Amino acid sequence: MIEKDVLIIGGGPSGLCAASMLIESGLKVMIVDRGLSLGGQLVKQTHKFFGSKEQYAKTRGFDIAKILIDQVKDHGNLEVLQEATVLGLYKDKVATISYQNEYLKIKAKTIIVATGASEKFLAFENNDLPGIYGAGAVQTLMNQFGVKPADEIIMIGSGNIGLIVSYQLLQAGIKVKAVIEASSKIGGYKVHASKLRRLGVPIYTNKTIKKAIGTTRVEAAEIVSLDEKFNEIEGTSEIIKIDGICISVGLAPSYQLLDMVDAKLGYIPELGGTVALVDEKHMTTVDGIFSCGDSIGIEEASSAMMEGYLTGLYVSKYLNQDHSKYVELVRKYEESLALLRGGPFGSKTRKGLKDMKEMMADVR
Ligand SMILES: Cc1cc2nc3c(=O)[nH]c(=O)nc-3n(C[C@H](O)[C@H](O)[C@H](O)COP(=O)(O)OP(=O)(O)OC[C@H]3O[C@@H](n4cnc5c(N)ncnc54)[C@H](O)[C@@H]3O)c2cc1C
Repeated sequence: MIEKDVLIIGGGPSGLCAASMLIESGLKVMIVDRGLSLGGQLVKQTHKFFGSKEQYAKTRGFDIAKILIDQVKDHGNLEVLQEATVLGLYKDKVATISYQNEYLKIKAKTIIVATGASEKFLAFENNDLPGIYGAGAVQTLMNQFGVKPADEIIMIGSGNIGLIVSYQLLQAGIKVKAVIEASSKIGGYKVHASKLRRLGVPIYTNKTIKKAIGTTRVEAAEIVSLDEKFNEIEGTSEIIKIDGICISVGLAPSYQLLDMVDAKLGYIPELGGTVALVDEKHMTTVDGIFSCGDSIGIEEASSAMMEGYLTGLYVSKYLNQDHSKYVELVRKYEESLALLRGGPFGSKTRKGLKDMKEMMADVR
């Protein structure tokens, strides 16, 4: 059995930032990630990020991933297992890992679950036809592997991911015939929507997909209008010919490993649905098991990084090996996170975190 001070499950922005604080504190850390490379979602993001200089604004996602990886790579205190999937997590802080056709066991004094999120899908007729993808899968195909997913596509969902991926589809020479949104408002930032409209992509609100049409693969989509209660309005059906449908209807936190150790869960829609409850130091209800990033609430990479740094610092204190700049850095990253969650766009997250605090108080 491999033994470590800290096992970090997930080498996305939150896991990498947590690792950087922990190795600087002199702790022995292992990151286990099932991906081909570290960086999580960032490796397929070709667009430039918003935010402040500290959160790498104006830098492309895959370049931010390189910066975060460079921060930790080749450090004597860090071991990385890639293409390694954590299958099981146990209360005695043992994880079972599938790696190169073998099962490994790792025991750690503390564990940080930074497993990110999975895409939500939509129920509609024929939604299993080839040519129907989640937005994350489209990004992986196009931006990571250089594979064109379709020639003509519709995007279902107008949140930031739907809008950003639509733009990336256009950049790859794919015609985006429309963005379809069920609610009455576009979900993402105006700046992304305006860019698409300028490039001739219509964004239809109060509409949804009813059915995918095709035999061996998708050939068209049936779109219908919705009333204010999201019921179909009769006689509004229209057929759009496409060879690809991209679904972008939100992300759900990957809490399953935390469920295995009986961490208390709560349903908080503002954070993306079911999440493990954590305290102000990001520890779950299981002593010594922490979580950060999208796995405890869907936000953005900028917040995932700040949460990761903070969780690394909190874990260093938990293990009585405080980072040498603990107080200064905690203040810096807490302020940064508060700024990111400020203003009207942060109101959803703030409400979710308030509910999390109340639920945590109830279970204690
Ligand atoms: C299309 C798109 C556009 C976005 N644009 C922006 C933007 O402009 N600005 C912004 O700030 N944010 C953006 N985001 C959001 C941002 O990418 C995420 O919030 C961020 O990546 C979350 O970081 P994380 O470390 O929590 O999770 P992730 O980046 O998802 O990393 C999780 C890691 O855990 C690994 N993992 C999961 N389960 C296991 C397991 N069982 N065993 C081993 N490894 C496991 C995965 O392989 C992955 O590497 C965007 C997201 C998407 C999808």
